[in-house]
Amino acid sequence: IKFKDYPFENDIKRALGELGFKHPLKVQEKTIPLILDGKDLIVKSQTGSGKTAAFAIPICEKINAAHESPQALVLTPTRELAEQVMKDFSDISKYKELKCLALYGKQPMADQRRELKKNTPHVIVATPGRMLDHIENKNVRLQDIKYLVIDEADEMLLMGFKEQLDAIIQKLPKERVTLLFSATISDEVNILSAQYMHDPENIEI
Ligand code: AMP
Repeated sequence: IKFKDYPFENDIKRALGELGFKHPLKVQEKTIPLILDGKDLIVKSQTGSGKTAAFAIPICEKINAAHESPQALVLTPTRELAEQVMKDFSDISKYKELKCLALYGKQPMADQRRELKKNTPHVIVATPGRMLDHIENKNVRLQDIKYLVIDEADEMLLMGFKEQLDAIIQKLPKERVTLLFSATISDEVNILSAQYMHDPENIEI
């Protein structure tokens, strides 16, 4: 099966072609149809498996570009990963022209606040601490978030982000898709998914 045969908009297919993505990798073959279908997923997968595109492609496909409001929130443990994931979203949505913003510490809050207001992103990729700061300061509109991705969930929990994750997720609309990616499915990951996911499917690569 080729990406050409998927039910994607031409803008997405064109970007995938330009990136040299012809066929879905295994994780993508499993996740993309389920995400397009609106399912919650717990995906056990390693970095390098193509996991970022496994959520970024279907989310970019589903976002309404004409609606200038954040529709997807991706939480990552580190700013390096936030930058990488943001770049993948930008590349995949290059012709669909979605706006993607990475938010993490060590950058002025005021600059990020201005960006959130003036150039409202469709996709936010953030580390938990900084995301919570913006939520508490009411800098970001959450009502239209339809996708939450918890990337490298095991790492995030090991780094002690559980409290911030709880505080963020409680502010999100209940009616949403939640996608959890993790290299290992620890007890803590299972607790998180039991708390916040709706009838998730488990995928192992
Ligand atoms: P990740 O696991 O998300 O870090 O991705 C690993 C690498 O695989 C990245 O360099 C991607 O650009 C690349 N990649 C992702 N999906 C595909 C695909 N369908 N075809 C070829 N390369 C891909």
